Amino acid sequence: ARSMEESYEAGDVIGTGSFGIIRKVVRKADGQVMARKELNYGRMDERDLKQLTEEVNILEQLGSNDNIVRYYERFVDKPNNMLYILMEYCSGGDLAGVIQRCRKTGCMLPEDVVWAYLTQITLALHDCHSETDAKGARKPVILHRDIKPENVFLDENNNLKLGDFGLSKAMEQAAMTQTYVGTPYYMSPELINGQPYDVKSDIWALGCLIYELCAGHPPFHEARTQPELAVLIREGKIPDLPKPYGNHLGAVVKAMLRQNPKHRPNTAQIQALDSVRLQVRVLE
Ligand code: ADP
Ligand code: MG
Repeated sequence: ARSMEESYEAGDVIGTGSFGIIRKVVRKADGQVMARKELNYGRMDERDLKQLTEEVNILEQLGSNDNIVRYYERFVDKPNNMLYILMEYCSGGDLAGVIQRCRKTGCMLPEDVVWAYLTQITLALHDCHSETDAKGARKPVILHRDIKPENVFLDENNNLKLGDFGLSKAMEQAAMTQTYVGTPYYMSPELINGQPYDVKSDIWALGCLIYELCAGHPPFHEARTQPELAVLIREGKIPDLPKPYGNHLGAVVKAMLRQNPKHRPNTAQIQALDSVRLQVRVLE
């Protein structure tokens, strides 16, 4: 097999993560532009290492969804404790950038763009959360566990790609994990109460993300400390979306932010909702 240096031309750094950087690279064989996550696992403990292996396995499993960052290959450089993950390059940055630009210019995302984004993330999550693969065979349910603007990327056609499965878990192992590791603002009531993460906790985070796309800030952003935030999340008073957005979108966001995880729609219900856009009643 060819070495990474032989196969890829290194380009600019396009992002920084917790354990390394993301770099743009070009595959020499055909000029294909890709993104390379460069992780130094030298300072990782046993648990992080296991999680890292999990991330790559999960990316491999999720091979063929148009709204999930495609994984190509990996290289391990043992002497230098480096792991390289080659994946699809998303030239449009991430949703955090979209939100930032909106805030700066004072404009709001058009409602149909918000709906399109909701549909695309739902399609990605649907694949993660479903218990059978495209051929109908049983597969482990994958929890993303860190849905937030920084982890949803855009390609050159403004299509969304769910990325950063660095905290994700296959369900079988997830049952015992109770410690929450994601973004505090997107933490669901069940996690605050020390219950295990499940698919509906991802749905809660998606609700927070759609809310933030509309409002320019997450729900409960007025909390200044973790305990204050926990109180607001537990209280369950979900703020309304800003005026220009329709009642229907507001109702869908509120459904995703229901206190009881069982009462939140699953990905199939969100998709059905979007395609008709009128049947909020199915959730009530
Ligand atoms: P971490 O797990 O450390 O948060 P991420 O995978 O989220 O790492 O990557 C960090 C940042 O790098 C992202 O928020 C995004 O802006 C950028 N990035 C990551 N992967 C890609 C990609 N495939 N294409 C374009 N930008 C990317
Ligand atoms: Mg990230």
